Amino acid sequence: MSHPPEQDLALYATKDLTFFSRLSVSRHVRTCQACAEALHDYREITADLALSEPEIPDWDNLAGEMRANIRLGLEAGACVPSVAPAPAVSWFNPRLALAMASLMFLLGAGIILRPDQPKPVPTVVASQQQSVKVDTEGVTITNVFYME
Ligand SMILES: [Zn+2]
Repeated sequence: MSHPPEQDLALYATKDLTFFSRLSVSRHVRTCQACAEALHDYREITADLALSEPEIPDWDNLAGEMRANIRLGLEAGACVPSVAPAPAVSWFNPRLALAMASLMFLLGAGIILRPDQPKPVPTVVASQQQSVKVDTEGVTITNVFYME
């Protein structure tokens, strides 16, 4: 006859065993006197634990301990000399400077290397003897000059 493990008996006593394990342990306990006694002991222990009330913490005592610990930590921190001064915050960031320089370079290259825009070619729309009409993209310029 193989006995169920002690932990299964303990879990059975607290009704925390799975369904099939519970069936198996229940069947075994009915036929095995040793396991029935062990189960009885576990049930008594469980009942004793359930009867004992949970300890209510003394909040004032806990608060006093926490204050003392905080004070101790602050004093310990004050005793230790600071190893290194905090690094000075600088406005200069080499990475940012490099990024800005790259951006400026790209902008300059874009301006310098941009494709040439076609310049408007003036076309003579009408020519009279004493005046010239020049049309540059919709704008008509009329020059009047007098010739002797
Ligand atoms: Zn047994």
